[in-house]
Amino acid sequence: MTKEWFEAEIARFPICEYAWLSVEDVPFLEQVRYICRTECPRYGTSWSCPPAVGTVEECRERCWKYKDVFLFTTMEEVTDISDMEETLRTRIAHEEITRKVGGILRKECGEVLILSTESCANCPECTYPKAACRYPEIMFPCIESYGILVTELAEKCGISFMSGGNIVTWFSLMFTTLPTE
Ligand code: SF4
Repeated sequence: MTKEWFEAEIARFPICEYAWLSVEDVPFLEQVRYICRTECPRYGTSWSCPPAVGTVEECRERCWKYKDVFLFTTMEEVTDISDMEETLRTRIAHEEITRKVGGILRKECGEVLILSTESCANCPECTYPKAACRYPEIMFPCIESYGILVTELAEKCGISFMSGGNIVTWFSLMFTTLPTE
């Protein structure tokens, strides 16, 4: 698989922007984990969030098994961005695109570590911590849960995310190793 082939393949999805990075370009920050711990109500409630995902160092090591990173965004307009219910509903389409794009990468490259936006919402009630995750193949940990500040990463590669008004931007991040061309 070449990058060009993959980019042509995903052109059918409503992806706004994307970028390829090296794993060395991704910063893993303890400060992001601190925000999860102190400010996020999802902390300790899902397999897709800390502490279930492991320490930031463990997350970094998991990502560093791969060489290449694919970052992409989708955008959606809502009537009122402060309406969390409406805003979060638009995430369903982003997750579906993430599943499909990740599926193509997995078919071509084998192992792919997929991170997406927000805590996993596949089940009405998460099994954490009593039983194993029901759908590990489609459980994409939250990008921030790995200590990654995605907006900083987006800035680095010139991807826009402050569109203003009632535009919501969703991110996904995929770690893999592309076949050598
Ligand atoms: S797939 Fe279900 S069990 Fe697994 S993290 Fe998501 S909500 Fe929890």
